[in-house]
Amino acid sequence: MTVTTRFAPSPTGHLHVGNVRTALHNWLWARKHGGRFLLRIDDTDLERSKEEYVAAIRADLAWLGFDIDGEERQSARFALYEAEFEKLKAAGRVYACYETPEELEIRRKILLSRGLPPVYERRPEGAPVPDGVAPHWRFRLDHEAPIEWTDLIRGAQHFEPKTLSDPVVRRADGSWLYLLPSVIDDIAMGISHVVRGEDHVSNTAAQIQMFEALGAAPPAFAHEALLVGTEGKLSKRLGSLGMADLREAGIEPVALAALLARLGTSDPVEPVTSLAPLIAGIDFARFGRAPARFDEAELALLNQKILHHTDYAAVAPRLPAAIGEARWLAIRPNLMTVAEAAEWVPVFDGPFAPPPPEAADLPVLDAAAAVAPAIDWDADPWHALTDAVKAATGAKGRALFLPLRRALTARDHGPDMRQLLPLIAKDEALARLSAR
Ligand code: GLU
Repeated sequence: MTVTTRFAPSPTGHLHVGNVRTALHNWLWARKHGGRFLLRIDDTDLERSKEEYVAAIRADLAWLGFDIDGEERQSARFALYEAEFEKLKAAGRVYACYETPEELEIRRKILLSRGLPPVYERRPEGAPVPDGVAPHWRFRLDHEAPIEWTDLIRGAQHFEPKTLSDPVVRRADGSWLYLLPSVIDDIAMGISHVVRGEDHVSNTAAQIQMFEALGAAPPAFAHEALLVGTEGKLSKRLGSLGMADLREAGIEPVALAALLARLGTSDPVEPVTSLAPLIAGIDFARFGRAPARFDEAELALLNQKILHHTDYAAVAPRLPAAIGEARWLAIRPNLMTVAEAAEWVPVFDGPFAPPPPEAADLPVLDAAAAVAPAIDWDADPWHALTDAVKAATGAKGRALFLPLRRALTARDHGPDMRQLLPLIAKDEALARLSAR
């Protein structure tokens, strides 16, 4: 069996971290098993689906590095749904319904007031059909066949079909609800594993009977616990946090993937620099049932950690021309984002206006200005400079290093000066040391 997964977003908005997590798990699973990862655009709702969102979804997946092996659009598949629907109708597995939403609501309230579960009651056999009313359609669950599956995350699942309402699969205007087209597509596309949020668990129960009614074996299912914010549920802001926001905030796609691959599992989050180790590590058995907590601060920190051992080649196209490999290696331990690298260009090449030196720092700076011209910049200039200044002034430790760092970089903190100083031109450094 070829492992085939699909990510099936509705193009009614931008992807947010919750959707991306689902996409990631599907992609990782397919890649781990040498299988296929499909993008299925669930655009049966022609009004709310927008082309700009389809384009944004593709762009976001590409940014994340989740390559796809095929794309399908539900709006191009209505003829197939129609044909399968006709088969189910002929077999008595879908049936016409005529209740108005108001009638259904009243029935629901009556059942609840009697302490009964609000399960849809089928119209008795032979009940009169109202005149001139277009029906909507429900799938007839087989009440005699208990629904069972072993969820890859949730373990053994059992549903009594009598406790479920026959789901509506098609509206009176002929438009499709999500449940049936999804099953028809999963069969047609040979989906082996459906990986999605646990909000779909009861849909799965009904869909398992749809697979069977259409003569297909259901795929394997993995329902993941929901993603929540640090304070409980995913806040409005986080819930709508799109990839554009994260990109703007300087988050690397691999940082987001590294966090989302491990949140809600028993494995630690690791600062990986490529998706490969995440592919090897995906294992639904490691996923827990408790909600997975997404913390933006944790993401920012992970992003920083990842940058600290990111190779030059991986970021070179996004760096200013003045930041070559040696400069990247010197500054990367001090960066929160790649964009911050630009802030170091003036430190290397100017224009540069160091703060006027404090009186107490003058002896160190005067000594530095005096010894620096004789230093070989190609050897280890920082070592030579600090040794000579120390010998001349007796200053050591912070009293030696800080005035020099300030004069040379205009900052109190930053990269290792041993690495940094050879990357500043000698005459530029001399000018900074003698500026008063
Ligand atoms: N379009 C559905 C959703 O976004 C797909 C669910 C599924 O994966 O089957 O909820």
